[in-house]
Amino acid sequence: MQQTDVAIVGAGVAGLCAALQLQEENLQVQVFEASDAVGGRIKTDKVDGFLLDRGFQVFLTAYPEAQRWLNYEALGLKHFDAGAISYYDEKMYSVYDPYRHPWQALRTALVPFAGLKDAFALRALHQHAHAKSIAKLLAETEMSSDAWLRKWNFRKSLVYALIKPFFTGVFLDHELATSSRMFTFLLKMFSEGYASLPEQGMQAIPEQLASRLQPQELHLNTAVTKIEKNKLTLSNGERIQARAIIVATDGTTAARLLNLPQIAPQRHNGTRCLYFSAEKPPIEQPLLVLNGSGNGIVNSLCVPSLVNPNYGTEERDLISVTTVVPTDHLNDEQLLVEVKKELRHWFKKEVRFWDHLRTYTIPDALPFCPTINPLQKEQIKPVLPSIYLAGDYTNYPSMNGAMESGRLVATTIAWDLALKRDK
Ligand SMILES: Cc1cc2nc3c(=O)[nH]c(=O)nc-3n(C[C@H](O)[C@H](O)[C@H](O)COP(=O)(O)OP(=O)(O)OC[C@H]3O[C@@H](n4cnc5c(N)ncnc54)[C@H](O)[C@@H]3O)c2cc1C
Repeated sequence: MQQTDVAIVGAGVAGLCAALQLQEENLQVQVFEASDAVGGRIKTDKVDGFLLDRGFQVFLTAYPEAQRWLNYEALGLKHFDAGAISYYDEKMYSVYDPYRHPWQALRTALVPFAGLKDAFALRALHQHAHAKSIAKLLAETEMSSDAWLRKWNFRKSLVYALIKPFFTGVFLDHELATSSRMFTFLLKMFSEGYASLPEQGMQAIPEQLASRLQPQELHLNTAVTKIEKNKLTLSNGERIQARAIIVATDGTTAARLLNLPQIAPQRHNGTRCLYFSAEKPPIEQPLLVLNGSGNGIVNSLCVPSLVNPNYGTEERDLISVTTVVPTDHLNDEQLLVEVKKELRHWFKKEVRFWDHLRTYTIPDALPFCPTINPLQKEQIKPVLPSIYLAGDYTNYPSMNGAMESGRLVATTIAWDLALKRDK
């Protein structure tokens, strides 16, 4: 039986950051990943020369955990402009982040769904997130994001045309029942850094992390089928002995593998993402276009190739369309028809010439989190003897939350193993 100090189940960003932290602690590590690549929910497919992330996602450069682990320059990050376009009352309106573009913010006062009072309130909202540390924001009195937004007295039309669709796309939660702590944390991240895309697609992020592991430390296509105290059984029948085990899978899988139903998230937020190619992009700026009309199934759209040209080809741009409201009643073909029909209102006839590339349906994209209790290092304990958990659902749903959980759990294990050795 092979032996190691720590065995990690899952090579998403939580498992990978745990492995890198354990390396820093001079512990041997073995990572077992069921699929054929690292990254978990952060994957990119190359299709006909286009880069298709599995579900629209962005990398926020302000994430402190990412700054700790990643070489941004090597990722070739390019960013979205800080703002958005809203499709409202059958027209397109650009609105810019009042913090980043104070002069452009005046335009916010001129759009039909907002006024001067809203422009100031938006700036105050940003200032609120800016002035506090992440730890303080994640410890603020908690309510739903929807209830929290109501406290700021924005006019309803601004919420529906801009704020709601923006955060619906971020949380993949169209009711904004997600914790207000998550809202302010992400607002801070958006306003203190950039929403960006790597040159080789989002999967380049976990791949960069994995490149720092030795090849013999990472085992792809190797599912863990059974977990016992200090022992793993792999899909090939092999058994691994470890002084500690980190289960860094999604919460539902961890609950099943450990027979601990109580650790599974109560539900997940899902999304469907459609990709198209077009000779001419429907917008000219690297901005997100939001559905501010208050109806329809499209939440947002963007042109990733305007952000990072590598996402498209020499001849054609890539268009990404995100839906969040439930569309289970529609199969992929019906969804495509509905989405194109809806977007003909936004961009008129040119939509007819868009070529559909692929549709991704991701029902378990993010754990639903009406409340958040950020991980505290002192409180991390094994869930079963010598077995620890990592993953976004143990902290808060985002790359940052997942990476941080991996690092904190690894640090705790290093400490616990050192204590055992000294006894
Ligand atoms: C569509 C979409 C959009 C998103 N947008 C953003 C965004 O814009 N910004 C942001 O910060 N976050 C975003 N996220 C969330 C972010 O991707 C996740 O929070 C994060 O990647 C979770 O990482 P993880 O390591 O906790 O889990 P996962 O990525 O789920 O990794 C778990 C790994 O465990 C493996 N595994 C499972 N079972 C086994 C087994 N039995 N044996 C071995 N391995 C196993 C899986 O194959 C997987 O690789 C988005 C997610 C999705 C899906």
